[in-house]
This record gives sequence, structure tokens and C-alpha cells, in this order.
Amino acid sequence: MNMVELIYEGKAKRVYRLNDDELIIEFKDEVTALDGLRREAAAGKGRLAAAQTAFFMNYLERNGVRTHFIDWDGDRRITVRALRMVPIEVIVRNYAYGSFLRRMPMVKPLTRFSKPLVEFHLKSDELHDPLLTTDDLIEAGLLGREDLQEVINTSLKVNDLLMGLLGMHGLTLLDFKLEFGFSRDGRLLLADELSGDTMRILKEGRHLDKELFRKGASAVDLVKAYAELNTLLGIS
Ligand code: 5GP
Repeated sequence: MNMVELIYEGKAKRVYRLNDDELIIEFKDEVTALDGLRREAAAGKGRLAAAQTAFFMNYLERNGVRTHFIDWDGDRRITVRALRMVPIEVIVRNYAYGSFLRRMPMVKPLTRFSKPLVEFHLKSDELHDPLLTTDDLIEAGLLGREDLQEVINTSLKVNDLLMGLLGMHGLTLLDFKLEFGFSRDGRLLLADELSGDTMRILKEGRHLDKELFRKGASAVDLVKAYAELNTLLGIS
């Protein structure tokens, strides 16, 4: 690892450049909430989140979704294709929760939507990831109209696949966050991670995701929940 250059360090991950076309994403044994104000060591979390990302990305690839994922080292690191990232977060929601309820407090928590909602946020810690309209992101040049439609179609397909997969294991997918980027040859690929840090997953009303920590549980209990999710899904 000392041969590769650290190019980005976020709250939960470090990104290293392996070569012109490939990066290594290293998942930290740490958990943060409240925009990074609350931070705790979480031994074992990095490996569990890397394993979840590898599992979900492989599943999506097998079902026709193009992703940046290349492989997992069996520990805290995955190798991925280097992309030109689109600076937006795409959120798909099946049930009313989280920031949806903050902006729509008249809706009862956990109401199932008549169809999945797809929404866009600008990726900016400084601005707290503000909600964008599709016109905003087109006018700002973040995505062209056709690429935006492809992002929406792919996000809904990912939702169908993940809902089906988790449903088979008695789990409910409330919502999740996706990121996308363009490969060197101009293809739009699903990027970043898919883990308990980026999805809300319920097992009989209990969160097996980062919401536990956001709501005050300890890092140890969070790691236990991630391990339970991996066991339920048969992830090594
Ligand atoms: P909400 O907008 O309700 O806070 O989050 C919706 C979904 O997207 C949740 O599953 C949440 O975990 C994920 N999400 C939203 N924003 C972020 C973010 O900045 N980082 C990560 N890791 N996940 C996010």
C-alpha cells in the first residue's frame, strides 16, 4: 500500500490511486454522524462495509448494472475503476424517512410511497447536500438530459434489484444513496459504496444500518448490526 498515492480522505473512506485507470477504496474502522461532529472507532466496520459493497456491486453487475467495482481484497479495501464523478447524490426512497420527513413533516413516518421516489442532492458538505431539481442540475451542467434519464433508469433498476434481494431475506429497504461517474470511454457507471452507511435496511422494524448510530447507539452495536446483516445475506 505504500506504493500508492492517497488522493482523497473522507469521513468513512480513503481513496488511493493504483494506476491511471484504477483506484483503491479503503473503508475505515470508524463511524461518524452529525456531519462528522460525532466520531467513534468501530473495530471491524471497515471490513463489513467493504464486504457489503462487494456483495451488492457483484449482484448488480450480474443483473446488468454497470458499476465501477473490480474486486475486494477480503479485508477493508476494494479496487474500482477510476471515474470522472458526477458531483451529485442520488437518493431512492421506498418509505418516508430521514430528510424526507424533515421537509415533509405532514407525512407519517414509514409510509410506503405509491412508487419509488428518486431525488438529487448537490454533493457539498459546506452546503449540507442541498436538494436539487432536475432543471437545476441540467442548467448547472452537472448532467445532460439523456445522462440524467439514464441515472434515473439505473437508480430505479438498482432499487428493484435490491428490494428483491433484501426482501428474499425478510429485510425491508427504506432508502439508499447512489453516486455515478463517467469512465474514460464515456460510459456512465454506478460508483462509490453500497453498505449500511448508505442504505436504510429494516429487519422486523430494527435498523441494520447506520441509523442506529445516528440515533445514539454505540459503535460496537453498529458493528454487531452490520455483522448480522452480512450473516443474513450470507456475506463472508
Ligand atoms: P436522508 O436524505 O433521508 O438523510 O438519507 C437517505 C438515504 O441516503 C439514507 O439511506 C442515507 O444513509 C443515505 N445518505 C444520504 N446522504 C448521505 C451521505 O451524505 N452519505 C452517506 N454515506 N449516505 C447518505
